[in-house]
Amino acid sequence: MAKTIQAIRGMNDCSPTETPLWQWVETKVRNVLASYGYSEVRMPIVESTPLFARAIGEVTDVVSKEMYTFWDNDEQLTLRPEGTAGCVRAAIERGWIYNNEQRLWYMGPMFRHERPQKGRYRQFHQAGVEVFGIPNPEIDAELIILTARLWKALGIDQHVSLQLNSIGSLEARANYRSALVAFLEQHQSLMSDEEKERLVKNPLRILDTKNQALQEVLNDAPKLLDYLDEESREHFTQLCSLLDAMGIQYEVNPKLVRGLDYYNKTVFEWVTSALGAQGTVCGGGRYDGLVEQLGGHATQGVGFAMGLERLVLLVQEVNKDVPVAKAVDVYIVYSGEGATLNAFQIAETLRSELPDLRVMTHCSGGKFQKQFKRADKLEAEFALVIGESEVTEKTVVIKDLRSGMEQITVPQTALVAELQKRFS
Ligand code: ATP
Ligand code: MG
Repeated sequence: MAKTIQAIRGMNDCSPTETPLWQWVETKVRNVLASYGYSEVRMPIVESTPLFARAIGEVTDVVSKEMYTFWDNDEQLTLRPEGTAGCVRAAIERGWIYNNEQRLWYMGPMFRHERPQKGRYRQFHQAGVEVFGIPNPEIDAELIILTARLWKALGIDQHVSLQLNSIGSLEARANYRSALVAFLEQHQSLMSDEEKERLVKNPLRILDTKNQALQEVLNDAPKLLDYLDEESREHFTQLCSLLDAMGIQYEVNPKLVRGLDYYNKTVFEWVTSALGAQGTVCGGGRYDGLVEQLGGHATQGVGFAMGLERLVLLVQEVNKDVPVAKAVDVYIVYSGEGATLNAFQIAETLRSELPDLRVMTHCSGGKFQKQFKRADKLEAEFALVIGESEVTEKTVVIKDLRSGMEQITVPQTALVAELQKRFS
């Protein structure tokens, strides 16, 4: 036998038994977004590397070590590690946001060269939302309310909680940065080499360090909220009171800064404790400077992305009421002279007349007993049986595979009505 070839580490297949759950989750996402009037967009999976470097920031984890980058002749390309950069690129290039507000969403694979573990993969999937041209905190609130509705629809709302912060304007953050660096410089003895490097390149990232000793010290560090500019403070106050009034619970987490450079004002994460270390299922925030930074007219933006693998894992973990979808309702077994053609014709008629019914014809020969076994394994509700006498008499046998009721023979012309009765 030839040597088998394996999938790339951290890149998953989705088996026929897993896809129904994925489709169920994706449908909930689509339906909730549709109910808020958001429009789907689709962007390429590959973009030019400088797009991500400019949008996400050179010193972020994503750009500095997680990107899949390659040369295509003399152009450097990258498999998208997230969706915002490509969406903003497209929005500028295609004129989607020219004098126009937009509420957009997308869903698809993202790629990051990380150490694979539960909830963390090298190819993973995100559903993301980007809203352009609306400065008011109302829209930040709408995005959070929308995600809260989605968690209910997925049956996971009791298992996620909202962390909220404001990181203010670029200027406020620069002021805060200096204060934080001054504070942290006194505690360098507690820092790893990587943290010392961050202290120089991206000190805010130290706030979400996993280093326990440093975490303790950080409790006394200057707080970003105390450095907010007036406008950001007012924006955040309004957002919080809207969420309060709408009954959305949240925790203000002053250490929440998020990993990507482009955020300002609002940042938020929905987290769960049910998935171990990979607890963030959804993260987002405002990025008012990004469109201009990528060469467009100054246009505010706010958005979020959720990790579908983590959502699917969480649904599996906590929601036992997800309906198990099966592939086949009616299985057609047949044998004898003229039966194949008759079975095909009946199947096509059923698919035309009852488009929601899932009909499978056996196709692989053998005794009736073997064919029934197959129908049973697929958990079909009914088998339709066509033998030589049914072909001659233009009848068909309906056998209920679930209830064990007596099978009945009906004229082929009455079959659609008979099945309609049983599936209504
Ligand atoms: P983390 O802190 O877990 O690395 P992140 O801050 O890098 O997350 P974002 O860039 O904000 O993640 O992406 C939004 C969401 O996408 C995350 O909250 C998570 O649910 C999901 N996600 C990110 N990276 C991965 C990955 N490697 N595998 C699976 N899901 C991921
Ligand atoms: Mg990450």
